[in-house]
Amino acid sequence: MKILLEGDSGKALCEHCQAVVPTHYVRRDVPFSDGQGMAKDILVGVCTRCDGVVAIPPQSTPAIREARKQQLKSIEARSGGCR
Ligand SMILES: [Zn+2]
Repeated sequence: MKILLEGDSGKALCEHCQAVVPTHYVRRDVPFSDGQGMAKDILVGVCTRCDGVVAIPPQSTPAIREARKQQLKSIEARSGGCR
């Protein structure tokens, strides 16, 4: 697996631009697929045209999963508060 670094570039299909666009890799906060919160400081590929996130490298998925887990834990802790 190729490990990507901040500042690397590539190409990906951007849904927003409806084209294969040049991308660059930066650290971003990425919303979870269900919209409940986000994973912070994740390395992702960003479209250089519309600045949208178009690629999430495999190396970033464990970090996202971990952030998701943490988030769920904190939601549980909150809802189980002193009421
Ligand atoms: Zn785009």
